[in-house]
Amino acid sequence: MAEITYAQPRSSRVTSISSTMATRADLDSGPTVVVPPASYMASTIPETLAKARTHVDAIVDDETSSSDDESSASVRGVVPNYAFAFDIDGVLLKGGHVIPEAKEAMKYLNGENPDGLKVPYIFVTNGGGKTEQERCLDLSKQLDVAVSPDQFICGHTPMREMAEMYQTVLVVGGDGEKCRVVAEGYGFRDVVTPGDIMKWQAAVTPFRVLTEDEYKNSRDRDFSKINIDAIFVFADSRHWGDDTQIIMDLLLSKNGRMGTLSDTFDEGPPIYFSHNDVVWATNFELNRLGMGALRVFIEALYKDRTGKTLQTATSFGKPQIGTFHYATRVLERWRKDVFGEEGPPQTVYFVGDTPESDIRGTNEFHEHVDEEWYSILVKTGVYQPGTVPRHQPRVIVENVLEAVKHGMERSRKQALQELDELGNGIEASIQK
Ligand SMILES: [Mg+2]
Repeated sequence: MAEITYAQPRSSRVTSISSTMATRADLDSGPTVVVPPASYMASTIPETLAKARTHVDAIVDDETSSSDDESSASVRGVVPNYAFAFDIDGVLLKGGHVIPEAKEAMKYLNGENPDGLKVPYIFVTNGGGKTEQERCLDLSKQLDVAVSPDQFICGHTPMREMAEMYQTVLVVGGDGEKCRVVAEGYGFRDVVTPGDIMKWQAAVTPFRVLTEDEYKNSRDRDFSKINIDAIFVFADSRHWGDDTQIIMDLLLSKNGRMGTLSDTFDEGPPIYFSHNDVVWATNFELNRLGMGALRVFIEALYKDRTGKTLQTATSFGKPQIGTFHYATRVLERWRKDVFGEEGPPQTVYFVGDTPESDIRGTNEFHEHVDEEWYSILVKTGVYQPGTVPRHQPRVIVENVLEAVKHGMERSRKQALQELDELGNGIEASIQK
């Protein structure tokens, strides 16, 4: 059995760099694993455990001829048959700062636990506004842990697969030009921002003047001659009023041409949101409005202006089932590339703070697939302790460290029980 650690990825596809030395340029060079400082590396306990288990496997295989016995599979090998998926905001970070227990939770998963086990995990956030590489570098520094773009899904990640569908797209949200950079990185051919449209005609947004920087970064285009084929809200809008004005102009236009007005109001481009969270948690005591609120706002305005329901809005992210299918593929590939294990884990513990997206999505996905998806709600984010969540998690815990311990302990008990049953089976067969 090969010895697998985060520092020595098994696949040649993945390269490792140090989280203390890494630069953004390093991350752009291909699939990478940002490794933690040596002080965070796990001890040799897993290797010892692996040898012990190989030994046990040999004995078990000798004494039982049924090689397809499912219960023996759970103790074979050092890779657990479960994995974790984490939401980020409200679970690991809050208001941009690390939640105190988050670093401990990561260390625990990376081998600093009573069994010395290393557990595979991925991150599934509705947030966005930066490239996946950039976000992973930030996260690896904040958590002192290995974070690879290969184990990371953000709200707009699935939009990558739509780059071929549209020629010219309007990208909304995020700081400065960042979302344009993300969209171009995804392969979108012609990316327009609200700033480009404001630069074309200042009268489009009568109450806002572009700053010097915004004006310089915005591109000179003649939007009376350009059709915009789709609108993508990549990240939270920084200027709701102006962004809403331009989005409404396009939704009511003929074929996405600025300055035109459709008679039937159904000739405008479709609009995609990277997620649907109406609220999110910051350090302020009450939840703040998120991208889902902008969608509600746009739909209400569309209805008010046209008397019709907007039919062309789509949201990605959690709780959409597609996001969880995507997460399964990412998790499966991560287990194979880094841990050398084929197939999906039997149980995925999903740790989140938002009942409407994290818990609802996990519970609904659980009903769809053979594997177990187990929802864990933490009290450090959107969920307000004392209230009854609209979507019930399997368990509610204080914070992410408790969530990790709960999942690992639960799976440990299950494995011991299976081992016990197996032991009884062997004893019975010997006595025969
Ligand atoms: Mg969250």
